[in-house]
Amino acid sequence: MHRFFIPPKSIQGNRVVLRGTLVHQIRDVLRMKPGDQLILLDNSGLAHQTELVTIDRETVRARVIEKWKLETEPSARITLYQGLLKGQKFDWVLQKGTEIGICAFVPVLAARCIVGSLNDVSATRTERWERIVIEAAEQAGRAALPHLHHPMLFAHAIETAGRSGLSLIPWEEERERNLREVLQDIPKSKELNLFIGPEGGFAEEEIIAARNRGIVPVSLGPRILRAETAGLAAASAILYELGDLG
Ligand code: SAM
Repeated sequence: MHRFFIPPKSIQGNRVVLRGTLVHQIRDVLRMKPGDQLILLDNSGLAHQTELVTIDRETVRARVIEKWKLETEPSARITLYQGLLKGQKFDWVLQKGTEIGICAFVPVLAARCIVGSLNDVSATRTERWERIVIEAAEQAGRAALPHLHHPMLFAHAIETAGRSGLSLIPWEEERERNLREVLQDIPKSKELNLFIGPEGGFAEEEIIAARNRGIVPVSLGPRILRAETAGLAAASAILYELGDLG
């Protein structure tokens, strides 16, 4: 059944009124008819099975048949601080990261990013990113939409992350500690921040600055992972270790 995240206020009791792009999606793209059913998600963890009642130019009206709490969110909340990447690679990280179970994404402008400044990240691009996260969350059956933060400078990102939970910065030159050891040594934290560098990796000064903020450098093993792979591999390993991935 088709699933859509909708603004919670669209549901009043067992009545639903939908407006905007979703009307076009339901009427013209999916060609749905009164009597057809779909699942509506209000981002609070509730799923609403609804039956379409009327479809007109501006609105779709439906009635709630049944609702239930979705148990699809991971117990550990991972925030991925991802260095801004060239071209479509960031889109890919958002789509796959949402499927895997990442709960928040922070685009980070690091020293070796090809993107010159935060102003270079256009509104069109962040709107496209929002759409990618919503579609991936609907496809994956997520109960809540991952949060997509505004792009941040590296210095601001390590300050923000340092305030809550366990923060890790995978670094290909790290020789002391690897991810598994750190996950086993440090008390189970339900809030994890993961810093992944851009194509050129992090500069050493950034690793030093992060370490001074209590962010732990870790190795992800002897092979160099591409920037768009490393965050997904690390998040999968963490969720698996915490029992959130099968
Ligand atoms: N030049 C390669 C590329 O074109 O994708 C390497 C990218 S660089 C290594 C991207 C980021 O991936 C690094 O900043 C680091 O966060 C992470 N990374 C990749 N392989 C890693 C490893 N074996 N151990 C720790 N971190 C790694």
